[in-house]
Amino acid sequence: AEIWDNVPLAPPDSIFNLIAAYAADPTPHKVNLSVGAYRDDDNKPWVLPVVKKATQILLNDPTLDHEYLSIIGFPAFTSAAAKLILGPDSPAITEGRVVSVQTISGTGANHLGALFLSRFYQFNGTKQVYLTKPTWVNHYAVFKNVDIAPVEYPYFDPRTLGVDFDGLKSALENAPTRSIILLHACAHNPTGVDPNREQWEEIAKIMLSKGHFAFFDSAYQGFASGDLNNDAWAVRYFADKGVPLLICQSFAKNAGLYGERVGALHVIAPSSDAAKRIRSQLSVLQRSEISNPPAHGARIMSLILNDPKLSEEWDQDIKTMAYRIIAMREQLYKLLTEEFKTPGNWEHIIKQIGMFSFTGLNQQQSLALGEKAHIYLTNNGRISMAGLNTHNIRYVAECLDKVVR
Ligand code: PLP
Repeated sequence: AEIWDNVPLAPPDSIFNLIAAYAADPTPHKVNLSVGAYRDDDNKPWVLPVVKKATQILLNDPTLDHEYLSIIGFPAFTSAAAKLILGPDSPAITEGRVVSVQTISGTGANHLGALFLSRFYQFNGTKQVYLTKPTWVNHYAVFKNVDIAPVEYPYFDPRTLGVDFDGLKSALENAPTRSIILLHACAHNPTGVDPNREQWEEIAKIMLSKGHFAFFDSAYQGFASGDLNNDAWAVRYFADKGVPLLICQSFAKNAGLYGERVGALHVIAPSSDAAKRIRSQLSVLQRSEISNPPAHGARIMSLILNDPKLSEEWDQDIKTMAYRIIAMREQLYKLLTEEFKTPGNWEHIIKQIGMFSFTGLNQQQSLALGEKAHIYLTNNGRISMAGLNTHNIRYVAECLDKVVR
């Protein structure tokens, strides 16, 4: 036998497969609704004007060098990032109970958070994490990689295309005490369905009474409503109520810094002494994995977050993205219900939040859109609203209408 004969061929990543199929399709009117990245009305990636400005400031700074950051990252970035998600007046921050570590975007934060829990969390029995069903597919691999078994809890109700709140509640109530529960901070991927505030309050109450740990994945702050504070509401509420938690924070989507890998892991500790010990162990883990996080994107975000004027411009840029997406939801809904009179109820299109929408299309219909209409979406019927624009939305609505009839 030859060396590496034992290595089986892994299946290709389904989303990256779709992107390749789209790229290879010569049809001019093809539409890509699979990708989880913002596009402008001309279907182009959008470099936020505030990011361009901050990049220019960096270019003009004669003192900048390419030295290593510290193991846990750029402090001016991580502390501003903690304030962004927890609020500027967060008691956990002022009491020195927040541990913030710069990570390789949101994925790296998920990994480091999971790795830390795998090493140090006092699991009640089996090492497992509760994931929303469905969830971002990568969650499964991230937790398996660190020997934490993913188990699912009901989240999405295919009948109502909304939250299966009764199923969710009873799963959290019946889970062993001190379970780890993964929660999407806002703009749930892939469904676009979030709990409302009363529901979040009930979830927090159950989590507290059961001693559960909240693993918040926050990849879309600002993207859901167009308002950074509004989208941080659930995380801040849980932190206020004292639910033990960590947050995985990504600046890929809300700052359009996908490839720069800008993110942070924030762990809220019960005391500043515990925070000190947690920080020391996170440093040890980070050192063995990446030594030091990348500097460029963190510097850009630090400039934006720490300068009131740039922060304000960022708020506007976020609104530009979020409001375009909301406008696409409204137009699609209008086209389906008023113009094409498409059978079925399409209210979920305007009710769902963020970049993604679960359309309710089945696998066969999703595939048919690709094959017959050159409209590419994942087999689960999820579409990225960012792939819609004023030039293609009529065509997409027309094809959706045909495929469900
Ligand atoms: N978590 C969720 C729910 C996501 O949807 C994504 C990206 O699609 C991520 C985390 C991580 O993204 P990144 O590593 O690019 O920040």
